[in-house]
Amino acid sequence: MSDLRDLYQEVILDHNRRPRNFQKLEGANRTAEGYNPLCGDQITVYLRLEDDVVTGVSFQGSGCAISKASASMMTAALKGKTAAEAATLFKAFHAMVTADLGATFDPLELGKLAAFAGVHEFPIRVKCATLPWHTLRAALEGGQETVSTE
Ligand code: ZN
Repeated sequence: MSDLRDLYQEVILDHNRRPRNFQKLEGANRTAEGYNPLCGDQITVYLRLEDDVVTGVSFQGSGCAISKASASMMTAALKGKTAAEAATLFKAFHAMVTADLGATFDPLELGKLAAFAGVHEFPIRVKCATLPWHTLRAALEGGQETVSTE
């Protein structure tokens, strides 16, 4: 088992301390809420989707460092992406943190999100890292129900 410190890389700590896009989004046309009962993470994702392009994305909520940093880095990565590109990124991120070796993804595509690669060694943290993404997917699909990791 790796040292827990390996998980909390500097980029993750930075996004936890100073989360990007941590606000309600003016003009959002999609929102979704997510909840991870295992850890107590709660998140609301705000999305502005115009002609299938993410022109705005933000989040609010409370949770552990991993969920907050993951949400912050997710919003930073998504701006300007199409809904299809966002879905592809979600798949790649999910495959990485669950160490799904059967999945194919391009590590370069993940960019800074690769900082979460160590999460797969801490199964309880996988849901923290993926909660913002599950919530994003719900927002993209236009669902109104609260997403739960359970
Ligand atoms: Zn958590």
